[in-house]
Amino acid sequence: MERYDLTEMTWEEVRAALEEVKVAIIPVGAHEQHGPHMVESCDAVLATEMAKRLSEKLFPQVMMTPTINMGVSPHHLNFPGTISLKSSTLIAVIRDVVESLQQHGIKKFLLLNSHGGNQSTLNVASTSLSNELDVEVYYAKTTASAKESMETNIHSTLFGHSCEREVSEALYLAPYLVRLDRIEKGDIQPGRWEMLRPGNPIQGPYKYEEMTKNGCIGDATKASEEIGRQVVEEALDHLATSIQKLLIKETVSNS
Ligand SMILES: [Zn+2]
Repeated sequence: MERYDLTEMTWEEVRAALEEVKVAIIPVGAHEQHGPHMVESCDAVLATEMAKRLSEKLFPQVMMTPTINMGVSPHHLNFPGTISLKSSTLIAVIRDVVESLQQHGIKKFLLLNSHGGNQSTLNVASTSLSNELDVEVYYAKTTASAKESMETNIHSTLFGHSCEREVSEALYLAPYLVRLDRIEKGDIQPGRWEMLRPGNPIQGPYKYEEMTKNGCIGDATKASEEIGRQVVEEALDHLATSIQKLLIKETVSNS
């Protein structure tokens, strides 16, 4: 066994693995439109693939759980196919997963999230579950820590959804997600969303179709498997180091 993945294990294998496991990684994705050139399971698959690789890097102290493959996506609902959970639903699902695994002896959790729209909900889940249960719940955005490779390779001012970064990640991790013959730049249009983007004085909701007619932003025509490799591998290194320092090492030194 090269990684502990709960979806591929028997209860006897899990019982043996739990002797060594310190941290459960819960992949969290979304089911939402990704423009003309990516399928709607994109975020769920990318979170799963990142969790697999992290579980391999940190074997045998990390175990990955089944992916929560829908997320908070109300801003995408006017595109066909998107399924959105309410924030309260997502938190409730995470709570039930954490409480179940807590019963098996796991006390540290990382919510490994690939969908920006989940971040504020995961912040609340992390804080409230850590306060209310006898556990530590952390969260991370899958590739946000890959700052160097993004600075080198990503040049659009507006990116982050079915853009050169995300399509590159998919070309590296799960190329079947991408419709290579349909790749388009974001069809961006002006609107009030510009005053609501992060960094502006006021934050609040807007719909994706206010910002982009085809459902994507950035410039996916610049995507490549090589950019994906750089972004993914840099992020995996940062994540593995932080998990090791914050969630694994501490446990060892305390025992
Ligand atoms: Zn996505």
